[in-house]
Amino acid sequence: MRFALLASAVSKSFVPTKTLRRLHLSSASSSPMAASEESLRLALAEKQATVDAQAEAVRALKARPGAVKPEIDAAVECLKALKVEAGAAARQLQAAVSRNGNASAACSREAFRQAVVNTLERRLFYIPSFKIYRGVAGLYDYGPPGCAVKSNVLTFWRQHFVLEENMLEVDCPCVTPEVVLKASGHVDKFTDLMVKDEKTGTCYRADHLLKDYCKQKLEKDLALSAEQAAELKHVLAMLDDFSAEELGAKLKDYGITAPDTKNTLSDPYPFNLMFQTSIGPSGILPGYMRPETAQGIFVNFKDLYYYNGNKLPFAAAQIGQAFRNEISPRQGLLRVREFTLAEIEHFVDPEDKSHSKFIDVANLEFLMFPRREQMAGESAIPIILGEAVSKGIVNNETLGYFIGRVYLFLTRLGIDKERLRFRQHLPNEMAHYAADCWDAEIECSYGWIECVGIADRSAYDLRAHSEKSGVPLVAHEKFSEPREIEKLVIVPSKKELGLSFKGNQKMVVEALEAMNEKEALEMKASLESKGEVEFYVCTLGKAVVITKKMVAISIEKKKEHQRVFTPSVIEPSFGIGRIIYCLFEHSFYTRPSKSVEEQLNVFRFPPLVAPIKCTVFPLIKTAKFDDVAKIIAKSLTAAGVSHIIDITGTSIGKRYARTDEIGVPFAVTVDSTDSVTIRERDSKEQIRVSIDEVASVVKEVADGQSTWSDITGRYPAHVAAQSNEE
Ligand code: AMP
Repeated sequence: MRFALLASAVSKSFVPTKTLRRLHLSSASSSPMAASEESLRLALAEKQATVDAQAEAVRALKARPGAVKPEIDAAVECLKALKVEAGAAARQLQAAVSRNGNASAACSREAFRQAVVNTLERRLFYIPSFKIYRGVAGLYDYGPPGCAVKSNVLTFWRQHFVLEENMLEVDCPCVTPEVVLKASGHVDKFTDLMVKDEKTGTCYRADHLLKDYCKQKLEKDLALSAEQAAELKHVLAMLDDFSAEELGAKLKDYGITAPDTKNTLSDPYPFNLMFQTSIGPSGILPGYMRPETAQGIFVNFKDLYYYNGNKLPFAAAQIGQAFRNEISPRQGLLRVREFTLAEIEHFVDPEDKSHSKFIDVANLEFLMFPRREQMAGESAIPIILGEAVSKGIVNNETLGYFIGRVYLFLTRLGIDKERLRFRQHLPNEMAHYAADCWDAEIECSYGWIECVGIADRSAYDLRAHSEKSGVPLVAHEKFSEPREIEKLVIVPSKKELGLSFKGNQKMVVEALEAMNEKEALEMKASLESKGEVEFYVCTLGKAVVITKKMVAISIEKKKEHQRVFTPSVIEPSFGIGRIIYCLFEHSFYTRPSKSVEEQLNVFRFPPLVAPIKCTVFPLIKTAKFDDVAKIIAKSLTAAGVSHIIDITGTSIGKRYARTDEIGVPFAVTVDSTDSVTIRERDSKEQIRVSIDEVASVVKEVADGQSTWSDITGRYPAHVAAQSNEE
């Protein structure tokens, strides 16, 4: 949940009306490569300036009366030589730009993405929803292998988080009454900044236009000076930090127009992303499709706390659909209008954010991108998590613990750890009440994508719902011994106040009761010295005179048996579709087939996420092999291993290629009636195993109890005939 909201209701201070829901693309880096790109830009600019000066000199020479031909020829030769040098410098710069991940890398990224997406769509991992009616942007169906992958990811999520931490899982409705989302701030502030084509009215996300412009310029404009390039990189790095005004100013400065028509654009303005509806036939109860699952947990806090034996810390979790009416959905599964979220709300005492299991993750080392490095235009750096917490880079142990657990979750799923980083939110990007926020970003062909947000949201959400509902969402710490504490006691005399203020009495009483200790003690001193005092009542919009008889203020010593407080919440929020798409890209590769011009597609899913764990192929079409295949299928079913039998007459190589393409890790080929071969997808190694053992061996590797190399030591290798592989 990421958006800026009202500060506390008491202070009434506002944070900028700026929302922060953006894909964060690769930001500027000052690596040695970037440095050499800068010096090459400088060198090219200098060469170009010399070419221009020489061209000018040639023109002047030609115009000069009495200039002799040899002199002109020499100057022209010199100009030609300078142009050659400038051309070489331009080529060098182009090569550096490409090396640094720009133009040609962008082309190969695009080609790679096409290959992945074509395979995913052809094999029905996902399908544009309502395709026969030409689809709707930002809505996708998962097909059979996609559903299986998603279900495996969610099963592992439950195991890794819910089971491991004894979380309380809930399942709340998607349709949510307005009052809930008003309290949470979504009705007023869940917005993205939008610009409109002033003639056609087409809408665009303002930050997307700016991002596209900067990236294009950096990739294609070799005439950019080093300073201009540095500025564009800085804009990319700070994109999430811009206010509406700053974004608007940049769009104007760069002369950015509507991409399709080149018409001028409006100033950026906020667009609320929630789908509105009404509940029931009367239309008088407004509601929204929930934009996140978290609110369902917050409103149930009281019951969940009780269910947990009135003890902190504890976490609740929810998996479910979330709905956001994205302005310009793009990038396939990465930005859609309905998606699955898996969210955890970990409730903790704000005075003690230590975590008993932090030690389990403290030694993990991975790429982190703290605020300081981002603002200095530097790159993400490997940091040991324990050090990040002890040095205060990460605010507290519990937040650090979840960062570590998210790292383990993603890498165990098959996300490449070299292309995973944890990026800290920039100051403006973070809601004012939040203590610290980090996004797990995964690099794919679209750049660095925020896939999991991990935020310490302090007590904001529970306070907001307490205030709106009137139900205190608080926790209690029982003291072993009663503690003596000094307590401010304000007792307004309703009778006296009623006589003086009549109908306004209630407002004055409330204002008196709401005074903090400092204000109350100042009033007490004034009442004692002067007998009366002027007091501003904000709900009346004016000051009233309070006399000694109207209020009694004292500091009393009291024995307290417990402390009552609003817990802080630490929220890891997982975009399941984004994680799955990045996993698709990180798992995809091609290998040559027998016919050299053709490439075979493979998804190297770990068995944990593979949509099907095993395929069973009779080598040739005979009844006896078909029977063995059926016996094996039965034993795989009994062992709980998902599988398919492929008895099509096509060559075994073609059948291997077909299952590799949906990432099935193991294939059993029936080539005799007492033993069979098991082939592993990536190594293509085969072992021979007796029919009775097949199911247990496949289960052992598919469940991750043993690795393939453990297994290969135990069974004889089978050398496949050449023709067995495509
Ligand atoms: P947020 O509440 O905006 O921090 O979003 C939580 C997570 O939901 C993000 O980390 C993303 O992984 C995911 N997410 C947000 N918006 C979308 C979207 N439009 N499509 C797919 N996933 C999204």
